[in-house]
Amino acid sequence: MNDQPRPPKSSSRTTAAGAKPARAEVEEAFRTIIRWAGDDPARDGLRETPARVTKAFQEWFVGYQTDPDALLAKTFEEIEGYDEMIVLRGIPFESHCEHHMAPIIGRAWVGYIPTGRVVGISKLARVVDTYAKRLQIQEKMTSQIANTLNKVLKPQGVAVVIKATHHCMSTRGVYKHGTDLVTSRMLGAFRNNPMTRQEFMALVD
Ligand SMILES: [Zn+2]
Repeated sequence: MNDQPRPPKSSSRTTAAGAKPARAEVEEAFRTIIRWAGDDPARDGLRETPARVTKAFQEWFVGYQTDPDALLAKTFEEIEGYDEMIVLRGIPFESHCEHHMAPIIGRAWVGYIPTGRVVGISKLARVVDTYAKRLQIQEKMTSQIANTLNKVLKPQGVAVVIKATHHCMSTRGVYKHGTDLVTSRMLGAFRNNPMTRQEFMALVD
């Protein structure tokens, strides 16, 4: 997080620019960082660290390898006319802020009102994960999740609320613990109908 106002961004997907560096280059970069921090990357306890950190980064940023649209491609139509709200509550996620690469730890509430077809509920969680496992700002991630559901499922409405703590704020900078940032994006019925929005917000705890 930083204190500067952020211009609204489009929901365009973040993609790696240029060719992917070799693993050895990445490990060498982490050896440089260890030296710069003041330690010796050759000492016993640190010898394997650059390889381990590289592997950890692979997990933390695996979201670049998944196309969120494709996750939602498979839908179910035999829903007996179900057209009420579907809400997956409190989906835990781990992300990293794009300003400091510090952890963002939080939960997401994702709701939509279908028009004739629904998606497997685990797919909602996977969309959250796919965007979380990239360099992020919370506001952008909130929009990306909502916009993807809206674009692919074409539902009557989409609602996304995210609550998260930002380690760049608690472990450095202003050192403020115990705060969380709440962001939301409401589309369609959730934006236009106060009752619908209220019904959703009552499910966010
Ligand atoms: Zn940050």
